[in-house]
Amino acid sequence: MKAVRLIKPGQPLEIQEIPVPQVGPRDVLVRVKAAGICHSDAHYRAGVSLVDPLPLTLGHEIAGVIEQVGAEVTDVNSVSVGDRVCLHYMVTCGDCIYCSQGSEQFCTSGQMLGKNRDGGYAEYISVPARNAFPLPDEIPFEHGAIMMCSSATSFHALRKGRLEAGETVAVFGVGGLGTSAVQLARVFGALDVYAVDINADKLKMAEGFGAIPVNAAETDPVAEVKRLTGGRGVDVALELIGLPLTARQCIESLAVFGRAVVVGLSDKTVEIAPYRELICREAEVIGSADHLAHELPILIELVRRGTLDLSGAVTGTVPLDADEINETMDRLERFGGDVRVVITP
Ligand SMILES: [Zn+2]
Ligand SMILES: [Zn+2]
Repeated sequence: MKAVRLIKPGQPLEIQEIPVPQVGPRDVLVRVKAAGICHSDAHYRAGVSLVDPLPLTLGHEIAGVIEQVGAEVTDVNSVSVGDRVCLHYMVTCGDCIYCSQGSEQFCTSGQMLGKNRDGGYAEYISVPARNAFPLPDEIPFEHGAIMMCSSATSFHALRKGRLEAGETVAVFGVGGLGTSAVQLARVFGALDVYAVDINADKLKMAEGFGAIPVNAAETDPVAEVKRLTGGRGVDVALELIGLPLTARQCIESLAVFGRAVVVGLSDKTVEIAPYRELICREAEVIGSADHLAHELPILIELVRRGTLDLSGAVTGTVPLDADEINETMDRLERFGGDVRVVITP
């Protein structure tokens, strides 16, 4: 089969002819119908985040059709040949201390698809059956693929922030993750959701989903959030950009008992004034990593019902072609999250 693979970081991906993967007794073979090209994949190609082993087929946002089912796959997994599925990207052991506590994103032998084992930039992928979640007919494969990364991450972040009905939320960065976060915050029962960004088009889209726009290019977002909340601040602030500045703004925007959830990746240091910013408000700063398998069926159902609308989320599709995928990654490096392209092999 064809697979587009990272041979060496810092170099373009290459197309290779490799064997169709083996299907273990508890695995399923999935014919890939859609694989999202994520910003992280561009980081892997650039060597910013480490991919191991190499060469490796990239791609962790995957949806497709079950082609073959391993001999020991039971009804519990409720998948059979011909089923439409989307794939949870963390392959975990199920037995370690973290897996047994339901925190499987910290599995001691966890492997991420497209980072630690072959991913979805290919015609087929083999994964444990429990990584395959039924994808209802109402959801296109393209949406099934991307929601397994950006929407799932936003969903988990809101849960980490312990958002409750009647609370207020500020979402810093309303690109791919943020558009889902705005909609999901309202599903969680948030009264007011403030969308903070410097891009007027993204703010308009967020406003369409019921958010109150705050244009950080025109106004100090912290002062504006405070003004709009009558000086109180927000209960939950999500940092989805990965900048020290916006992480600071999240913390400064918090109300008493507020929770700042940090999702955007950055290796820079953020300064906090403990007394004024945390202690006096009993505020919290919370890290949120990936998502959990048991969150995915809820998310899939929200998309099926149209409660979470992903219709504007995919900006284009490309075939399983190394040149086109490399070009998409070049654009991701230049324009970031505005580019949401899905490979449709
Ligand atoms: Zn992703
Ligand atoms: Zn484990």
